[in-house]
Amino acid sequence: MVLDMINIFNGITPAMWQKQKRRGKARQQTAELENDADGSATLRLLEKVKDVATLVSDNGTHNPGSIGLDQAVYSYGVTGKFHTGAFIASLRFAKELEAQNKLKNFTKVRADFEEFLVKHKVFINQLAHSKGSRTRPVEAMLQMHRIILECLESGTRTARKIVRKLKAHEQLKDLKDVTNIPSTENRRKRFSKEAEQAKVVLTILETRERCPECGARLPPSCRSKDHRTRSADGGKGTLANLAYTHAYCNTGKKIPDATKTA
Ligand SMILES: [Zn+2]
Repeated sequence: MVLDMINIFNGITPAMWQKQKRRGKARQQTAELENDADGSATLRLLEKVKDVATLVSDNGTHNPGSIGLDQAVYSYGVTGKFHTGAFIASLRFAKELEAQNKLKNFTKVRADFEEFLVKHKVFINQLAHSKGSRTRPVEAMLQMHRIILECLESGTRTARKIVRKLKAHEQLKDLKDVTNIPSTENRRKRFSKEAEQAKVVLTILETRERCPECGARLPPSCRSKDHRTRSADGGKGTLANLAYTHAYCNTGKKIPDATKTA
C-alpha cells in the first residue's frame, strides 16, 4: 500500500518502476525514474506521502493543519473490512481540498458529509466489488466524495437526493442504496469473521468522541488540545478548560481563514 501511495502522490505509474528494473543498474540514468544513488530522490518521493499523511492524520506530528480524517468512516466497508482504494481516495480528497483552498468549507459541512458516508458504507463495498481491488476504485470513490461535498455545499442535504446525484455520474451509476447491514448469510452457529469485523467498526463509529468545533468524529490519534477559554483571554490549563478538537479546527478557530495565506 505504501508503494501505491508513493506512486499516486508523485504521479508515478507502476510501469515506470518496471521499466527501470528491466533496464538494469547501468542504464537507470535514462529510465523514467531518476537513479537514486544517495537516497535523496526516494526521500523526496516519501516526503510527498508524509505531506498528505500529516494532513489527514495528526498522529503525533502536531501539524496544525491536520484535519484528522477518521479512517473508520472513510476506509472501512460495511463488513468492517479495510479497503485500500477507499483509504487512498480519502487522502486524495483531502489533498484536493487543501490545493483548492476548500478545507474551511469542508469543515462547515464535514459532520453531515461523514454521516452520509457512514450510513452508506455499503457504497465502499459496491465500488470495490465493481471496479476491482486495491487502487482501481480510487477514482470512483474520489468522485463520490466530490459529489457529496458539492451537494452539501449547495444545500442538497437529504440522503435520497444525494444518492440520486451520485447515480447520475457515469462512474457511480450502479450504486444501490440498500440496507447497511452485511447481507452475507451465515448458517453456522459460530460468528462469521465479517460479523465480528463489522461489529468492531460499528462500535468504534457509535462511541467515537466528537470534535466540538465541527461535530465530526475525532479519532484519539488526531486529538489537538484546545483551551475552551483562550489562554489570551485568561484561560488556564485546567481539566475544565480542556477540549479536544481536530488540529485544523483548533487552528481555524483562532485564525479566521486558516486556509488562506495572508
Ligand atoms: Zn473538527
